[in-house]
Amino acid sequence: MPVFDSRSFRDHEQVVFCHDRETGLKAIIAIHSTALGPAAGGTRFWDYAASHRSAPTDVAETRAEQDAVYDVLRLSRGMSFKNAMAGLRLGGGKSVIMGNPKTVGTPELMRAFGRAVNRLSGNYYCAEDVGTTPQMLKHAAEETPYVSGLEGVEFATGDPSPHTALGVFVGIESAVHFHLGKPDLSGVHVAIQGVGHVGQYLAKRLLDAGAKLTIADIVDSNIDAVKAMGDVSVVEPGAIHAVDCDVFAPCALGAVLNPKTLPDIRAKIVAGAANNQLETEGHEDAILRRRGVLYCPDYVINAGGIISIESEVYRETPNEAARDAKVRRIGDTLTKIFERSEAEDRPTGLIANEMAEEIIARAAAARTSHQAAE
Ligand code: NAD
Repeated sequence: MPVFDSRSFRDHEQVVFCHDRETGLKAIIAIHSTALGPAAGGTRFWDYAASHRSAPTDVAETRAEQDAVYDVLRLSRGMSFKNAMAGLRLGGGKSVIMGNPKTVGTPELMRAFGRAVNRLSGNYYCAEDVGTTPQMLKHAAEETPYVSGLEGVEFATGDPSPHTALGVFVGIESAVHFHLGKPDLSGVHVAIQGVGHVGQYLAKRLLDAGAKLTIADIVDSNIDAVKAMGDVSVVEPGAIHAVDCDVFAPCALGAVLNPKTLPDIRAKIVAGAANNQLETEGHEDAILRRRGVLYCPDYVINAGGIISIESEVYRETPNEAARDAKVRRIGDTLTKIFERSEAEDRPTGLIANEMAEEIIARAAAARTSHQAAE
């Protein structure tokens, strides 16, 4: 399995392949960096073989493993960047469990996964992600204390969505101020793609701030929930990215900025909660920049949720004022990215990555000199 040669392997500290014969567990845990603190990042449970079913079995298995390795390396590095830019005492990690969670995600398998996490002695904290549920993680937590995002336990921080929405809201404020020269959001037209957990909290804040809203969702009840908040326009899901507006806020899917959607985007700013909005890292943000569209790097603007979870990892009683102050700093961080992007005439996504790498490198150097002094 080509880990060191993988295109997404970059300075990872540790990559662990976990297997349990009895339960069939096949998982990979990647710790990208612990320079800033224990690595934190969710556990993705995904059937990587599903898209290779037409290939011969051995080829399909190899491809599935390659996809899983690529995913865990890419996502763990992303978590390092996200946590660093949010100013957290957390490093970056991620885990993937291979298989269909509906058929193989048994309590026994999750307990075996918990034991694998436990063997890392607190260097990695897992959490819910695509394919895992709080209930599944409860089983993992029977074997290890290194699980975050659990409900109803001591130090639990609850639903991260309102905090993510606050971060996106202050991020939109910063972008509108920087790019459009407006002091507040009154009369600013925002198109929200996806009004689920984050999208609804965001819609409420935007309406309260006097923004004009256009929304789209594939679930009618979610549309109705926002309509009940105030005056909003609704468009078909396939049309939301093309709305002529000030801000396009993707709050549903990944890879929404791609060769198909880019030519249609008429917004002046892209700022939303969705993860991995760029189909190709370092590509779509460059195109948007050339077209005068300001892109707010997704992992910077959507960090409110992980900011709220930090206290859980450190087993601290949540402090709402400190948490909100940290979430609101997302706006200042974005302004720094915008300024550097403009000064260097380079895309915001690249600038954010570089700033994150600088923060991690400084922490790693401090850790090395501290260890040398001991
Ligand atoms: P959610 O599932 O509650 O909401 C997503 C919404 O998008 C749903 O209402 C869904 O019906 C809608 N949707 C799906 N496909 C659509 C389409 N083609 N067009 C329009 N709408 C569509 O998820 P969420 O928790 O609100 O998260 C939204 C995004 O933000 C996700 O990408 C998530 O990974 C990311 N994110 C969430 C958090 C958090 O705290 N919840 C934190 C960081 C990042």
